[in-house]
Amino acid sequence: MSLSYPHESPFLHGTNLPAVGDYNRSVVLDTIRKAGQISRVEVAHLTGLTAQTVTNMVRKLIDGGLVQEQGTVTVGRGKPRTAIRLNPEGRFALGIHLEPARTTVILINLAGEIIDRDLPILPDDSAGAIAVLARSAALLLERQGIPREKVGGIGIAIPGPLDAGRGTVLDPPNLSGWRNVRLAHDLESITGLPVFMEKDVTAACHGQTWAGNGQETGQDYIFMYMGLGIAFGTVRQGQVYRGRTGNEGEMGHIVVDTSGPACWCGQKGCVAVTCDPRSLVKQAEKEGLFPGPTGVNDPQAFNDSADLPLLDGAFRSLCRRAHDGEDACRDLLVEGAGRIGRAVTILTDLWDMDTVVFGGPYWHLMEDIYLDRVGQVLRRRSVLRQVHDFKVLSTTLGGDLAAIGAASAILDNDLTPGSSPGMSGKDHPAL
Ligand SMILES: [Zn+2]
Repeated sequence: MSLSYPHESPFLHGTNLPAVGDYNRSVVLDTIRKAGQISRVEVAHLTGLTAQTVTNMVRKLIDGGLVQEQGTVTVGRGKPRTAIRLNPEGRFALGIHLEPARTTVILINLAGEIIDRDLPILPDDSAGAIAVLARSAALLLERQGIPREKVGGIGIAIPGPLDAGRGTVLDPPNLSGWRNVRLAHDLESITGLPVFMEKDVTAACHGQTWAGNGQETGQDYIFMYMGLGIAFGTVRQGQVYRGRTGNEGEMGHIVVDTSGPACWCGQKGCVAVTCDPRSLVKQAEKEGLFPGPTGVNDPQAFNDSADLPLLDGAFRSLCRRAHDGEDACRDLLVEGAGRIGRAVTILTDLWDMDTVVFGGPYWHLMEDIYLDRVGQVLRRRSVLRQVHDFKVLSTTLGGDLAAIGAASAILDNDLTPGSSPGMSGKDHPAL
């Protein structure tokens, strides 16, 4: 299935032809979700479907427990009409965020609200880790008394690169023990639930579009994912763009400092050797900002995950000291923010975007310095600065963003026409 590039209106149009019931069902559900509360008449108006088609569809959705009637809505001078809305308890999904430093498993409802969570400790071997993930998913469903038939599936957010079509983790940097692992396939075999994998930044984009509706991002924006690696995603006309193979967002070799350190790709001053936490910690170490050696490897070196706890600790300490007003630490992060600003400028110019949303596991440590600085760089360097201003935002969804996004992509697959996460294996169970 290919991604659709929809229309100016955030509402999609249905078709009154027979044999497209599933599509219309998605169109009606999507319209109800975006509206919050709406009458059948308005649904018909917004989708272009006949009143009769909408009435039939809504009856089926109410029977299936996905939609409920609640109160009335009045439009203009018309008479009050029965309001319909999504039933938050009508459908659930599980989300897993596999990070180098920790693993989060969450259960969300149709409204995108987190119902329960677990933070399992995974063993080093991938088979053992998959068994622990399966137990964690089962635990959440059992604890909340959610029947299997109400669960759309399990979404996994994981660092790329991945082969979404085969549900295989390829060779993510910073996640040792996960090379060529058929994660989606194996987890699906154990749990019996449909599983799909998404690159972490793409999952974060799903989370932002699904659950971050209240935030003024508009329909087009760039999402910057600040973790142990740095990646970007794009949302275009309200749709998350995944790239040809689900691997959009590799920006490690954009050059942001021509006099910077050599990169393994042959260039100098790439994002990969100047912007990520590892690069910043090593720069701080060389400038004598730590009392002794940090034990963190160079970004140019081959890195297994053995030094990750040291890296995590050193980077947190660097950010905390900058936040507390230590000038040298702050200056170093302001420079780092300037380099990210240059990369972001290239991205916004490429796609003619004016909105950038930042998030990811380390973002909350950096945002007090980065948010302003990136905006300054954009306004000074962008080719398009005379055409439009820029909006640089922090996600309101915090550290659970990618897990929420992975789970919401499951719901999105059910509810949004044209969305196509790379589901592995069998079809969704029928509602
Ligand atoms: Zn490079």
